[in-house]
Amino acid sequence: MQCGSDRVNERIFEIVGSVKNYKWGKRGNNSLVRQLTVNSLFLDSTSDDHYAELWFGTHPSGPSQVIPFSKKEHPELNSLAAHLYKDADAAIGNTNHVKLANSIHLPFLFKVLSIRTALSIQTHPDAKLAKKLHQQYPEIYKDSKHKPELVIALTNTLVMCGFRPLNEIAEFLRQTPELTMVIDKNIVNEFLYVCDTSPASSHTKPLKRLFSALLCADKYTLSCAHRKLLERMPSFQPNDSALKKVLQALLEDFFEDAGLLCAFLFNVIELSPGEALFLKPNTIHAYISGDCIECMAASDNVIRAGLTQKYKDIDMVINTVNYKAERPKILRGENLQDSFLFSPFERIYAPPVSEFQVGLLRLDQESHIYVLPALPAISIVLVYRGSGILTRFPGHSPGYSYPLKTGRSYIIYKDTSVEIHVKEEIVLYRACPSMLSSLPA
Ligand SMILES: [Zn+2]
Repeated sequence: MQCGSDRVNERIFEIVGSVKNYKWGKRGNNSLVRQLTVNSLFLDSTSDDHYAELWFGTHPSGPSQVIPFSKKEHPELNSLAAHLYKDADAAIGNTNHVKLANSIHLPFLFKVLSIRTALSIQTHPDAKLAKKLHQQYPEIYKDSKHKPELVIALTNTLVMCGFRPLNEIAEFLRQTPELTMVIDKNIVNEFLYVCDTSPASSHTKPLKRLFSALLCADKYTLSCAHRKLLERMPSFQPNDSALKKVLQALLEDFFEDAGLLCAFLFNVIELSPGEALFLKPNTIHAYISGDCIECMAASDNVIRAGLTQKYKDIDMVINTVNYKAERPKILRGENLQDSFLFSPFERIYAPPVSEFQVGLLRLDQESHIYVLPALPAISIVLVYRGSGILTRFPGHSPGYSYPLKTGRSYIIYKDTSVEIHVKEEIVLYRACPSMLSSLPA
């Protein structure tokens, strides 16, 4: 017997994610997170509560559990980290996982988010800063690791990400009295002067002063500026339609917050389903609304600067944020069917980090059987929609099969090929450590 299961040598296990009921999450049936948990026998999703996040992985703040094959004989769920420890050789593969006394921790964390009101303006530290912050303030920064992050939109998703190109910020400073009334005139003039006269490389200090002045503006001046902005919202017609949506959302939910006017400084992007952004460490960002997949290095380190009641470390953000001012690249996933590791019906989102990548698989032919090639490392599969049957390939006796339904999730061990029999069009997301380093150049 192995892993507390009745089935020896099994390489696919159903898991159950960890639900987070943060107040910014969508409520009840409106939440995609709740919709994804409705089919789970192990998650209580009957209330009208907030369903903000669903986590898959081994992070101690929200570890996944492995569902036993026989509920009757093994009524208890097993922690995924402990399960992997018992089956490490068969399961994991060559990843930079962490092995502790009786658990193994995956290098990535895979989530679904369903966002009703904005999440805080934040950055995630790079490896060096994460280590330092964890040593100095272990109560606040609980992880010692960096946290590069990938967001893939499931529905239209509004995001603020990185600083706008300088000419856009300058244009807003010239045309937006609500912005200039909260920032010292000298700081605004210095920024405009540098933008007009100097190469882009010299903009960092003036942009830092501008950002700092905005975040540290006094509450009274901010509320005057926000009131004026609210009054002229009906006639406000920026070229950037996403900007208006963000301002409307923030004026409703964060009227007192200095983060509101940051929408004029940050890129504002409305991702369509399937579009994605990679957020390098130290990139300023905030998710405003929508539903998305998020995958990241297994860390929970957040340095907050606005749009939140939680602890903010504004000085830390001001001093460590990346001041590069440019439009971010929108990713749409790549088809890498030349490789033996990927399928023709899979789009891969693979940022330049070793900890993770995400595949989006669309299996649209009903009654068809699709084969997913074996990967050299463990993966987590989430059924976003559809129905069908998952089995090992080629059919190993006695050929166990696993139901695929919206919200069901599985771990698939390394070196395990699977086949999927489609009943209704299936859309799957598959997260695993980055495979690109193992591809031929
Ligand atoms: Zn983030």
